[in-house]
Amino acid sequence: MKVLLASPRGFCAGVNMAIESLELALASFGAPIYVYHEIVHNRYVVSHFKDRGVTFLDDIEDAPEGSTLLFSAHGVSPLIREAARRRNLTAIDATCPLVTKVHLEAIKYAKAGYTILLIGHEGHDEVIGTMGEAPEATLLVESPEDVDRLKVADEKKVAYLTQTTLSVDDANRIIDRLKQRFPHIAAPPKSDICYATSNRQEAVAKLATQADLTLVLGSQNSSNSARLAELSTECGTPAHLIDGAGDIDPAWLEGVETVLVTAGASAPETVVNECLDLLRDRYNATVEPQVIRTESVSFPLPRELRGHAAETEVTSVLTRS
Ligand code: SF4
Repeated sequence: MKVLLASPRGFCAGVNMAIESLELALASFGAPIYVYHEIVHNRYVVSHFKDRGVTFLDDIEDAPEGSTLLFSAHGVSPLIREAARRRNLTAIDATCPLVTKVHLEAIKYAKAGYTILLIGHEGHDEVIGTMGEAPEATLLVESPEDVDRLKVADEKKVAYLTQTTLSVDDANRIIDRLKQRFPHIAAPPKSDICYATSNRQEAVAKLATQADLTLVLGSQNSSNSARLAELSTECGTPAHLIDGAGDIDPAWLEGVETVLVTAGASAPETVVNECLDLLRDRYNATVEPQVIRTESVSFPLPRELRGHAAETEVTSVLTRS
């Protein structure tokens, strides 16, 4: 068996920053630390931190008054920030700067009187946070068909934004329909779909046709990971989205000669390595790294932690490659 190991894959700069922030918060303030929603959408990462005294909350009222609370990489709405202030929480904001960029665009368009058409998936943490910046002015668009059903106050004053982790092709189909219906639609100066999402998709698009099967390391609720599996299937190569080697069904590998292995932006390299070890041990696989693009993006730690970083040298086992 041959394994094509896609690069780039796995952790992006935003996930690295969020995980290092939580490690540093644990080292500086000690457990318990509370995190609003999952720090990133990955079962392995969440369980790693639960074991170390981190509690993940879906309701901010569950955070004890005065406790330390970290906002996840997906960002939060102003209402949540306000609730944290009311409860006297020490809030650490580990929102990815590329998500913050979309929030700022929403604020700018809302102030200028635009209707914002947010392309994204209903219920995703990031979408909830972005819509919360301008709830009265924002409409969610999930498909090209949704575009035909939109009712806006002024067709000349509409702008679109997107969730950062969408399929580039799916988003473009919706944007094309929006441009047909609203020829004057305003757009962000640079795509909201982030570099990590588009680079991982580019690698799968280039490599999937050379493989019989694609294994995507990532959790089911990880949007960017799910898009990688979908993209491989669209390229004609069946794909499975798995949390780790333990999820691999031997039946998938019957008669398979070439496997493409990649990982979503929230999946740690540990789970990729365990998967490669299993393929080497059971199928005598040789692993061929395939570098489609290199990345050198990094983000600073949240403001609230920068002083602590100087005092405490912390590197997460999750982010070590
Ligand atoms: S996937 Fe993109 S937007 Fe999300 S945390 Fe990573 S870099 Fe930021």
